[in-house]
Amino acid sequence: MVILRSVEANILDTEGTLDLPDKVLAALDVVHAGLHPYTGYQGESVEENTAALLSAVRHPLVDSIVHPDNPAFPVDMEAVVEAAVREGKALEVNNSSFTYTRSGSEENCRRMVRLLAERKGLVAVGSDAHVASFAGEFGEAIEILRETDMAPSSVINYSIERLEEFLARRGKQLRLE
Ligand SMILES: [Zn+2]
Repeated sequence: MVILRSVEANILDTEGTLDLPDKVLAALDVVHAGLHPYTGYQGESVEENTAALLSAVRHPLVDSIVHPDNPAFPVDMEAVVEAAVREGKALEVNNSSFTYTRSGSEENCRRMVRLLAERKGLVAVGSDAHVASFAGEFGEAIEILRETDMAPSSVINYSIERLEEFLARRGKQLRLE
């Protein structure tokens, strides 16, 4: 088993400010960022949410954006996918969005995955496990990727080798100890 040093940082504003200093982010193997309720983020409109995600995508220390399909923070998905493809960042397909959180994500997720498949964008598959027994639960997420014929090579955590390759391209080296 490989345990990475990682974080799901909160995006706090439309400038993509994160709730951890760069010094901390730079010490991690993988940095995910996303919008969450009750974090102080004030954006309400599609324009503001999109600006927040685009800024986070451009943040040099961010590797992937978590659950960009969350209906609580609607975005211009085409713009988000385009930016992620341009910056070589991954967008997450979050398994728990289809089971017990963020209800209504599924349609947005299907659209996101279709756009990513068309544009050869990158996906990160997450179980978003809040308890240990849910770790590695990817069933629904994998189903959606299969429907869209997403190439395994586009999934950054398809294998440890694939992840190492992605991180190397991001100028990071996986420290397997
Ligand atoms: Zn989250």
